[in-house]
Amino acid sequence: GLNRKGVGLEEDFYNKMNRDEAEDLLEEEEEAGPVQIVVADEDEHQFSLDEQALERILLQEHVRDLNVVVVSVAGAFRKGKSFLLDFMLRYMYNQKSSLWIGGNDEPLTGFTWRGGCERETTGIQAWSEVFVVEKPDGTKVAVLLIDTQGAFDSQSTIKDCATLFALSTMTSSVQLFTEYGRLAMEEIYLKPFQSLMFLIRDWSYPYEHAYGLEGGNMFLEKRLQVKQNQHEELQNVRKHIHSCFTNISCFLLPHPGLKVATNPYFDGRLRDIDPDFKKELANLIPLLLAPENLVEKEISGSKVTCRDLVQYFKAYMKIYQGEELPHPKSMLQATAEANNLAAVTGAKDAYMKNMEQVCGGDKAYIAPADLQRNHEELKQSSIRQFCTIKKMGGEEFCRRYQEQLEAELDDAYANFVKHNDGKNIFFAARTPATLFALMFA
Ligand code: GDP
Ligand code: MG
Repeated sequence: GLNRKGVGLEEDFYNKMNRDEAEDLLEEEEEAGPVQIVVADEDEHQFSLDEQALERILLQEHVRDLNVVVVSVAGAFRKGKSFLLDFMLRYMYNQKSSLWIGGNDEPLTGFTWRGGCERETTGIQAWSEVFVVEKPDGTKVAVLLIDTQGAFDSQSTIKDCATLFALSTMTSSVQLFTEYGRLAMEEIYLKPFQSLMFLIRDWSYPYEHAYGLEGGNMFLEKRLQVKQNQHEELQNVRKHIHSCFTNISCFLLPHPGLKVATNPYFDGRLRDIDPDFKKELANLIPLLLAPENLVEKEISGSKVTCRDLVQYFKAYMKIYQGEELPHPKSMLQATAEANNLAAVTGAKDAYMKNMEQVCGGDKAYIAPADLQRNHEELKQSSIRQFCTIKKMGGEEFCRRYQEQLEAELDDAYANFVKHNDGKNIFFAARTPATLFALMFA
C-alpha cells in the first residue's frame, strides 16, 4: 500500500511538473512579441537601454551561451521594416517548410505594422523569442531579430539617427538598410562592421538592373563610384564604406503592389501582394536566414554569445549617452571594456557551474580541504579560460580585468565555504534543539 502510494505521489509530482512546464512553454509562445530595448527619451535627444528587457531576452538559459546571429533591419519610419520582419518571422517559425511564406489569406503578424502615417516610436525593438538554429556543421546558434527605427528625417538631428544607427550596426552581424527606390548612403557615415545590405524597395528599373541580389550589387558598385562634383563628405562615405563593412551588398525588391502601399485595410495577406514581389521575397529571406547563410556576430575577430552581447549593448550605450558624437577612440575603448567584461563573466560562470557540481545546494557536505582544492583547481581553469579569450585593450588593461575576475572568484568561494559549513550537521547542530530535530527528522 505504502509503496503504491509512494509511486502515486511521484506520478502526481511529475504530472504536475509537466503541466507547469507545458504552461510555461505556452506562456512563452503566447508572449513572443516585439520588445522595446532602446527607447528614445522624452525630448528624443537621448536614448536609453532597457537593460532588464534585454537581459530577459538574451540571458535565457537555452540561448545565453550560444553564439549569436543578429539580423537587424534599420531605416526610417514607414519604410516597410515591420512588413519585412514579419516575413522573416514566418520563415523562422516555419523554417522546415517550403510553404513558409504563408497562405494567401493569412494576415501578417509579428512586429506590428500598420498603414497611416502617425509617428511611431524611435528606438530599437527585438523579437522576444531567440531562435535556436543548427547550422550545417552541427553547431547551434541563436538568432535575434531586431528592428531599428530611426527618424532619418527632418524632425531629428543627425546625431540622433547616427547614434541609433551606429548602435544597431555595432551590435548586429547583418544589417539591412531599407529605403524606397534610392540608395541612401548619405546616412551611413559611421564606422564598422560586419554585413550591410541595402534593401532598395519599389525598384522600378528592372530593365536597367534586374531585381534581386545580382542586379542590386551592380547598382551598388555604380553608386559607389566617387565623382568629382560630390560633396566631400559623400565622397568620403563612398571611399570608406568598404573598409567599414566586411561585406556590403544590395538587393532590389519590386513594388509590392498598390494594395500594400495604399489600401488602409491591407493586412498583409499574400493574395494582395504582387507575384514579382513574392518571388523576390522568397529569394531574399533565405539569403539572410537559411542555416547555411547565418552570420555569427563577431567583435575583434571573436564570436559573440548572447551573454556577451548584453555587455556590448551596455558599453556602447554608455558612450552614446555623451553630448557629442562618439569619438572612434571611445568606441574602441568601449569595445575593449565590453569584451573584457564579457570574458570575466564567461570565465566566472564556468567556475560557478563547476563549483555547483562540487558543493551546490543539492550536494552533500564536503571536507573543507577538498573544497579548497577544488576551488583552486577551478579558479586556475577559469583564469586560463579568461586568458585564452581574444581581448582588446592591451595587456595592462586586460590584467585589471583578470584581477577583477580573481577577486570575484575568491568572493564566490567564501560564499561556497559558508554554505558548505552550514551543511555540516555537527557544526550546525550545536544547540540541543537542532540536534533533537535532526535525530527525529
Ligand atoms: P516601418 O515603419 O518601417 O516598420 O514600416 P511598415 O512595415 O509599418 O510599413 C509601412 C507601410 O508601407 C505599410 O502600409 C506597408 O503596407 C507599406 N509597405 C511595406 N513594404 C512596402 C514596399 O516594399 N513598398 C511600398 N511602397 N510600401 C510598402
Ligand atoms: Mg515598424
